Amino acid sequence: CTSRMQVTILRETLPGEARVALVPEFVKKLIASKVEVHVESGAGAGTFASDADYTAAGASVSSDHQRLLEAADVLLAVNRPPAHDLAQLKKGAVVVGFLKPLDEPAAMEPMVGAGLTAFAMELMPRTTRAQAMDALSSMATIAGYKAVLLAGELLPRIFPMLITAAGTVAPAKVLVLGAGVAGLQAIATAKRLGAVVEAYDVRAAAGEQVKSLGATFLEVDLGGIATEDAGGYARELTPEALKRGRDLIAKQARNADVIVTTAAVPGKPAPLMMDDQAVLAMKRGSVIVDLAASTGGNVSLSRPDEVATTANGVTIFAPLNLAATVPYHASQLFSRNMTSFLQLLRK
Ligand code: NAD
Repeated sequence: CTSRMQVTILRETLPGEARVALVPEFVKKLIASKVEVHVESGAGAGTFASDADYTAAGASVSSDHQRLLEAADVLLAVNRPPAHDLAQLKKGAVVVGFLKPLDEPAAMEPMVGAGLTAFAMELMPRTTRAQAMDALSSMATIAGYKAVLLAGELLPRIFPMLITAAGTVAPAKVLVLGAGVAGLQAIATAKRLGAVVEAYDVRAAAGEQVKSLGATFLEVDLGGIATEDAGGYARELTPEALKRGRDLIAKQARNADVIVTTAAVPGKPAPLMMDDQAVLAMKRGSVIVDLAASTGGNVSLSRPDEVATTANGVTIFAPLNLAATVPYHASQLFSRNMTSFLQLLRK
């Protein structure tokens, strides 16, 4: 490929979105591989990258939104750009980002109609070869970490055990439900802060990973059913198996100070891990962070993007876009994923 590919990065427009699709460090890397990068003025503001940082990295920075769109061979975005932006792209242009093809398929149709090529980062295969392009894992890593910090902020206790002249403070008990990428990061973060951590997952492989982080893995007899698909993801369980998991969780939850839930099944609503009763039996002052809010939540009493306190004094927070609250590193990891993908596209 000899002609220079024109890549455009716009300011993200979703409310609360502070990430950018490409940070200056990766602009440099793309330019080194014969790509021209055009950045909308202010695009990096949420990550504390200035227009000058982009210029220094070799990008051309402009405020001419329409021109940026018209010039693009490739539009790199975190979230799916608004329809009126997509309509400005030339035929044959490529759009890459979290496009929500399964959640909002109708919004993808205009792209097809306009002759655009769209790559949804959430559909990247979870193979070894595609690991460097796995943006879902990148964002889940950030979200799992931040979920524990938020829980710590909402919790009226501290995490570590302390032995002081004023007495001994017992460590916080943290229960993590779903030990995939986000769950494992939540476990590691809670351990680093000194909590005693337990975790539950339906996949047997998760058990080994949980134990290797120094946490206790809760085992449930699910009657020997297959819990994993060929790709290593959890399957949707039978109502009976789900109930067995919920019964064990309800029992453990009574002693927990913090619960972080991350359970998900690709393309399906999130499994219900805690019903009202399980939450209402928890200790006063305990905290739940439900990371499955965008697919319906793991906790019946959680409300998307709201902090709620139940009648028995349990605080529940179900953030929708936690990765955006750590914009610097979320954007850095996302940029690496984008760059790896783009370099593959050019081969
Ligand atoms: P995910 O977000 O789809 O689900 C999160 C976790 O919830 C998973 O561990 C799942 O087993 C669990 N879960 C689902 N239903 C449950 C239920 N009813 N009760 C308890 N737990 C439940 O998953 P993810 O974090 O994106 O990744 C899951 C798997 O994919 C992991 O094994 C991970 O190692 C693997 N993975 C592999 C690669 C790779 O090889 N490149 C990359 C990323 C992830």
